Amino acid sequence: MSEGKVNIHNLSSVPEDREYENKLRPANFTEFTGQAKIVENLKIFVQAAAMREEALDHVLFHGPPGLGKTTLARIVANELHVNIKTTSGPVLDKPGDLAGLLTSLEENDVLFIDEIHRLTPVVEEYLYSAMEDYKIDIMIDKGPSARSVRLSLNPFTLVGATTRSGLLTNPLRERFGINFHLEYYDKEIIKKIIIRSAHILKIEIHDNAATEIASRSRGTPRVANALLRRVRDFAQVKGNGVIDNKITKYALEALNIDRHGLDEMDNKILQTIMDKFKGGPVGLNTIATAVGEDPGTIEEVYEPFLIKEGFLKRTPRGRELTEISYKHFGKNFLGSTGVLF
Ligand code: ADP
Repeated sequence: MSEGKVNIHNLSSVPEDREYENKLRPANFTEFTGQAKIVENLKIFVQAAAMREEALDHVLFHGPPGLGKTTLARIVANELHVNIKTTSGPVLDKPGDLAGLLTSLEENDVLFIDEIHRLTPVVEEYLYSAMEDYKIDIMIDKGPSARSVRLSLNPFTLVGATTRSGLLTNPLRERFGINFHLEYYDKEIIKKIIIRSAHILKIEIHDNAATEIASRSRGTPRVANALLRRVRDFAQVKGNGVIDNKITKYALEALNIDRHGLDEMDNKILQTIMDKFKGGPVGLNTIATAVGEDPGTIEEVYEPFLIKEGFLKRTPRGRELTEISYKHFGKNFLGSTGVLF
């Protein structure tokens, strides 16, 4: 991706964007589009727990950013008619912080921990007994009079979210009774999400414009909503407020959004394999070193989309570019035989 492109993944990091996201966040299963298998199963688990009047088993959502992990955590709490307390791995750096949160939970409440792979080992250790027996041992006093006191907690559901499930320790992973992997969305589903968001924001959008935005959204609802917002700005200033295909194309070109929705790192990975490794096959660690990114992040965050869209193949000998990648960069595909196609 060339310099000056908008990084669509960073659009949600400022408070104003978070507010926008919350407005568009589905509040229940009916409003949530896509991830059909997960929703179908979750509905059953939630209903069963509600019928037994018990806390739902602990749930782990893993998958790339912006696919709906936080949204699903909130939906679970809403559908269970319980409160949700939200925190994240890096914020919970002291066991005392976790103890404070856990003791504040009411019966069957949900505790949501985002980026759960980033918990410190001490905090994680505390979580084990809380998850298993609804009990925690806290240390009171210091020095010779220090002693541990066992506290009972209300039954609760821990919902953890992570983009890097590979970094979770086994003991933590095993304590989640329910474990779901979120996949990138198909364009048709992203299109439905865009139309729903436009409706909530009272924006008029043409069907082909929604298709165009969907195809550039990297299979990610967060990106789709962020692009919709940017295109709306163009429609207001340069047009009559209606998002039609013409203004959409104009806006996406002006914002330098990739035709296939690929982001800077996607393009860097593909370009590196093409230029430095003759299109592959090349090993994951070699690619990671060449692009300066962590191999696990490439494997869990970037590759799944590139593979789903057919830009990249995983072979026993390593990663290989496909003809689609070559076309994307306007180059001839030499194929594994070296013959020009
Ligand atoms: P994650 O926690 O996986 O990073 P979020 O749950 O915060 O992602 O979702 C990002 C944004 O995308 C939210 O504002 C939400 O409105 C929207 N979103 C995510 N999944 C869906 C979906 N299935 N349907 C509609 N909107 C969605």
